[in-house]
This record gives sequence, C-alpha cells and structure tokens, in this order.
Amino acid sequence: MKSRYVITGFIALLAVAPLVLPTFQITLLNYIGMYALVVLGLVLLTGVGGMTSFGQAAFVGLGSYTSAYFTATQQFPVWLEWAAGSPWLALIAGVLLTTAVALILGALTLRLSGHYLPLGTIAWGISLYYLFGTMKNLGGHSGISDLPPISVFGFALEKNEEIYYLIWAILLLAVLITQNLLNSREGRAIRALKGGQLMAESMGVNTFRSKLIVFLISAVFAAVSGWLYAHAQRFVNPSPFGLHMGIDYLFMALIGGVANVWGALLGAGLLTMMKQWLQDILPFIFGDKGNYETIVFGLLIVFIMHKTPGGLWPILMHFVPASLKTKKKLLPAATDKHAAAPDLPRRTQPEKGDLILEARNVTRQFGGLVANKEMNLQVHAGEILALIGPNGAGKSTMFNQLSAVDTPTSGEVLFRGQSLKGISSRQVASLGMSRTFQHVKLLPTMTVLENVAIGAHLRGDRGIISSALHLERAQEASLLKEAERQLIRVGLGDYLYEEAGSLALGQQRILEIARALCADPCMLLLDEPAAGLRLKEKQALAELLDKLRSEGMAILLVEHDMDFVMNLVDRIVVMEFGEKIAEGLPQEIQTNPAVLEAYLGGAE
Ligand code: ADP
Ligand code: MG
Repeated sequence: MKSRYVITGFIALLAVAPLVLPTFQITLLNYIGMYALVVLGLVLLTGVGGMTSFGQAAFVGLGSYTSAYFTATQQFPVWLEWAAGSPWLALIAGVLLTTAVALILGALTLRLSGHYLPLGTIAWGISLYYLFGTMKNLGGHSGISDLPPISVFGFALEKNEEIYYLIWAILLLAVLITQNLLNSREGRAIRALKGGQLMAESMGVNTFRSKLIVFLISAVFAAVSGWLYAHAQRFVNPSPFGLHMGIDYLFMALIGGVANVWGALLGAGLLTMMKQWLQDILPFIFGDKGNYETIVFGLLIVFIMHKTPGGLWPILMHFVPASLKTKKKLLPAATDKHAAAPDLPRRTQPEKGDLILEARNVTRQFGGLVANKEMNLQVHAGEILALIGPNGAGKSTMFNQLSAVDTPTSGEVLFRGQSLKGISSRQVASLGMSRTFQHVKLLPTMTVLENVAIGAHLRGDRGIISSALHLERAQEASLLKEAERQLIRVGLGDYLYEEAGSLALGQQRILEIARALCADPCMLLLDEPAAGLRLKEKQALAELLDKLRSEGMAILLVEHDMDFVMNLVDRIVVMEFGEKIAEGLPQEIQTNPAVLEAYLGGAE
C-alpha cells in the first residue's frame, strides 16, 4: 500500500518539474524518459525472459524513421496522401512495421539457443543502421529534418516542456502495462522462460510463443521511443540508432537492475546523468582535448557491473526502510480475496479402475543399445504402480516414453485410449497427464503460490492484451484460488507467499505435486519422488499419494527406495537391462527369485 504513496509522490514531482526546472534539465529528463522506455523492454526481454538483444537501437530507429518518412518527406503516392503528415498515423505504421520485422527476426532466431539471438540482434542492428544511412529517400547520412510536432487534442507539443508530459505519460503507462503483464498467467509463463522452459512446456506453456511475445513487446517499446525521439528532435539521422547505442541500452538495463521495471528508469537516468557529468567535469581535469568521457564512462560501467552484478535497484531497495515496503507476508488475506472467485471448470474424470495408461511392446534403441525392450505395462485410475530396477535398467527411458518426452523406436503408448505418437509434452499435459521431475524444477524467486499456479496454465485462456490491461482479474483470481486449494490439499497452505527457493527439498517436491495437481490431471507421473527426502518427509509424501489414490488418481512412480515403494504401491513392475523381469504385488516381488538376483546379484 505504502509504495502507492511513493509512486504518487514521484508522479507529482514529475508533473511540476517543467514548472521549476530550466529547459536544459527538462531536455535531459526527456532523454531519460525515452531511453527508459527502451530499457524497460530490455528488462522484460533480458531480465525476465533471459534473452539478450544488442539490436534495440535499430528498433528505435525503425520507429523514428517511419515517422520521419510519413510526416516530413512528401514521398507518398497520391492515393496515400491522406495519411501523410500525421505523427499519430505514423506511430501506428511504425508499430505495425516493427511488429512485422520483429516477428520475422524472432521466428528466425528465438528457436535457436545459446549465442544465436545476441549475434542475430547485432547483425540486425548493424545492417539496419547502414540501411538508414544509404537509402536516398531517407536522406542518407544527413537524415530527414523539419518533422512536425506531435499534436494532442489540437495542441502542438513544440517545446521540450510540452513533449515532456507525453514522454513521461507513455513511459509510466508502459511501466504499468509491464507490471500488469508480469503479474498474470501470461506473465508467469514469461517469467518461467529463464531457467524453467522444460518445466513450463510440460505444464502446457508454449514457450516459443512467450519468447516471441516479449521480443515483440520490447521491440514495440523501442519503436515508440523512437517515434517520440523523432518528434522531440524534429530531425532524424542514423547516428543514434547504431550498435553502440544498442550496447548502451543494454548497459542501462544491467546497471539499473535488469530484474525490475523500476531498474529501467534508474539505469536510464544514471547513465544519462553520468555521461553528462563526465562531459562537464573531465575537461577541467584533463584539459579540453580528447574524448576522455568515453574511456572513463566505460571504466565506470565495468566497475559498477563488477560491484553489483544484479544492478543498482536491489541495492537502492536495501536502503528503503522496511516499513515502506509492501509486506508480502501480510497478504494472506488472499484466502478471503480469492474465496469468492468461481472454481475453475474440471475435466471429466475417469471411473476408479478404468485403464488410463498403457504401454504396448515399447522398444527404445539408442544406436545399438536397447534401453527399453518390448515393455508392456498398464496403470488404472485409483492405482499406484511403481517402476523399479537397478541403475541403468532403463527406467528413466521408459518414463520418457510414457510422458511423450521421447518417442519409442517401436511399439506405442496409449493414454486414455489415445496414442501418444507425434504428441508433444505440451499436448500430453492438456490430455490430463501431469508430471514432476527427478531434479526439482521450480522458479526459486517466485512465490510458492505463483509456482503452483503455473500448473493451471492450460485452465486459463486470457491472453496478453487482457493481462496487460488487467481485464483478466476474475479469471486470475480463480487460477490463484485453485493454486491455493492444491497447496492446502498437499499440506503447504502455510507457505503460499514464501519464496519457493526457501523451502526444504521435501517441501519442494510436494510443491511440484501441487503444481501437477493444478492441471486437474487424471494421472501423475513421478520421477524418483522420494530421492533425497528425510524419513518424515517420505512419510508425508506417502500419505499424500495414498490420499490421491483414494480419490481416484492414477499414479506411476519411478523409484529407488524399496521401503517407500513396498509400503505404498499396489503393483510393481521390475526392469533389468531394459526388459520387464517381473510384475506383481509388493509381497510377490519381494520374494521373486529373478528380482532378488537382479538386485542382490547386481549389487555385488
Ligand atoms: P535408469 O533410469 O533405469 O537408471 P536409463 O533409462 O537412464 O536407466 O538408461 C538405460 C540405458 O540407456 C543406459 O545404459 C543408458 O546409458 C542408456 N541411455 C539412456 N538415455 C540415452 C540416450 N539419450 N542416448 C544413449 N543412451 C542412453
Ligand atoms: Mg534414471
């Protein structure tokens, strides 16, 4: 709540600034606002999404040049002349053009991992810069001048003090939109991009789509900044859109704090001021020859990044008295907040005893190695089946065939009667199969509640626009209510607003089960759920699985821990060298000679 006062105060200061500050300072603030808009896009793209772009300046240029071409070059064919001259129409054109370019660029580079995206953005940044410079009808290196001012309700924003208000209004709007977006179903999918893509896909998130969306948003923010720039300067030439500026934007993001929307403002402000101060001060120190500011500036950046790898915003927040910060722990009035939200619709669940999952003669070969050979197994609703076997027996491989992460060389897997051939792990999630991971995969800095809500991704449908405008609050409340319900169901109801990374390992595994349950599955696949747990935690897990079974859930688990398996499950399938060597009730398996041979013989 209190942070709202801080923001209101900040806006009030911004509003009076042009009345008290000299024009020079306002011009500086204009630059800061325009830069911050670009950097905000980078916070989304790099800080949240984990993708690095050096090419943002080129998008700024695209916005600038489109508007310059529209409003100042008089090159339109007769039938389009009605559109010429209006900065607002030019803005729409610029945004559309940028979206189209970003779509093509994104489609080409975002699927590639590693350094391809940054390299692609560098190439794109350089080539567009030269394109601006060489195209005759864009004025070459001397650019385009005499752009008209932007008019708002018939009032022309000619002076710096006037366009100032437009710049900052747009920036604050963009901050608001970004925050809304991050705080939504789509936002959780975006926040999962950095370090949680495999997990997100298995929860039904289309991660490529999420990446493309952040890439588009960051490009559009840059283009809008370029549009403002063109009409603030009333003149464009290629120099502010080159690679060096693309790098500066990235510096601003890194220095401000790339994980927070306000870090964008801090970074843009600080770097702009630093440059200014250095230009003023250094000539006194070194005499007035030479570009010392570039060198000192570079050194300062290296120094700051070395000292504060997470950017300056977190450090700034450190000094804010705790009483001013929004207290997350006080929020759990959420129980009442979401209580009124309608429940999410549920899928029709199978009857107890129905056949849910079936493997028919599944064989998986890796070259000459047969990891799974003619494997057959069945899992029914209301049953726990364990898949056990010594190391290297082929359990994980089998798990991958069953969960459609991998495709059998021959044979097939049927889930609720449907073949999984050619089906992605994302589609399997939508069919009602949910999984956890052998090595816990959660987003440590997100709250427990948000982590679990990712599991409900496919049960919501509101997209980017309604998220950005917070028109999806009703559905969001239902999603969070569901996440909360599942957390209470598994016994983590006291930890809703803790950071997921702060939970003990046992609790993290239970969190993963809650997340899987959030998808309203009829089948759970658990990969070594008891690994690394203490006795008490194992007992809690066994109780939970027992409860789920009695509710009709079909559960398959791959497990090492014999005691855990023997006391819990209904049936066991034992594997050795890729083949099924035994199947039966726990007590039968315990006395089966082939199993004893495999385990005891294999251990020695
Ligand atoms: P388990 O989980 O029972 O310990 P795995 O399914 O991981 O066994 O492995 C079974 C066999 O298949 C092992 O010999 C392993 O080396 C081999 N294997 C597993 N995955 C691959 C792969 N992607 N490429 C080649 N060999 C693999
Ligand atoms: Mg394994």
